[in-house]
Amino acid sequence: MEEISLQTIRMAQKTIGNIAINTPLIPSPFFSQLGGVEVLLKLETMQPIGAFKLRGAANAILNLPRDVTGVTCCSTGNHGRGVAFAARASGIKAVICMSKLVPQTKVDGIRALGAEVRIIGQNQDDAQDEVDRLVRDQGLHDLSPFDDPHVISGQGTIALELLKTRPDLETLLVPLSGGGLAGGIAVAAKSIKPSIRIIGITMDQGAAMHASIRAGHPASVTEVGSLADSLGGGIMDNNTYTLDLCTRLLDDTLLVSEEQIYHAMQTLFYEERLVAEGASCVGLAALQSGKIDHLRGPVAVIVTGRNVDTTMFANIINGQNLTLGDTHIAGRTYKRR
Ligand SMILES: *Cc1c(COP(=O)(O)O)cnc(C)c1O
Repeated sequence: MEEISLQTIRMAQKTIGNIAINTPLIPSPFFSQLGGVEVLLKLETMQPIGAFKLRGAANAILNLPRDVTGVTCCSTGNHGRGVAFAARASGIKAVICMSKLVPQTKVDGIRALGAEVRIIGQNQDDAQDEVDRLVRDQGLHDLSPFDDPHVISGQGTIALELLKTRPDLETLLVPLSGGGLAGGIAVAAKSIKPSIRIIGITMDQGAAMHASIRAGHPASVTEVGSLADSLGGGIMDNNTYTLDLCTRLLDDTLLVSEEQIYHAMQTLFYEERLVAEGASCVGLAALQSGKIDHLRGPVAVIVTGRNVDTTMFANIINGQNLTLGDTHIAGRTYKRR
């Protein structure tokens, strides 16, 4: 096992400094009033690929052995986009494997960066089978979206920026899927400030890390359509890093419903005029629905990405009903509740 520490995260910050940006941390008057504490939004939506995943992907690619000529990965969309972007910058080949659940807008974004895209099967496990085949047959390097020490250290750089700007932060709300983001942030934040509280948040259907922490081993989940499509997929049966980090370092994990995510996306747009994808809004959804007990401020909410299909986003803004695979979400015209 390789080390993941404050030191590897500081090294990652130097490594990715020319490719990922130090994103803005902005106050949200609306959510501050709602939560009764100061709420700040960390806008990873402003990264060049529209999501934080560029941090981990760039750190991993810039640390590859020199003889690696190409990478492959499975992805719910944003990791693939980060890998495609960083691979192009480094002049190496990238093949991104995704399931049919990945929205077309994410597929198009990856192709536009010059990577090869393969759409395989109905879930992340099927996409991973194709990755394994590419590793065997073409000798490509498999770059995990979350269970890789360089990826985790890259995502952890968010916490360095947060606590440099606001050392007084008491709570971090972090969207949780494979746990690379939450794990990396938790290592850095708790090394700098052990008393900080870190809460991981996921949609209530197919919440693999939430179930795995409770089970004490990687739990398998059924992947279904969700507004938080970027949070889909399991944590891998051979999980090496993120289950341990999330079990040890997260203070809590919470689940939110599709309706709550829908409402949070509307709220962020109408009250702050910000566009964010469903996965980015789970923290705000938890705050808004009063799910967080004893919330201590100042709070930073990681708004992780903006790569949402524009037609679907318009439908949400207009309060339309949505159907995502077998998942039906009742629309509702936005009003402050
Ligand atoms: C990948 C992703 C997450 C979750 O990150 P993990 O490291 O898998 O937990 C959250 N939000 C967005 C937008 C993502 O793309």
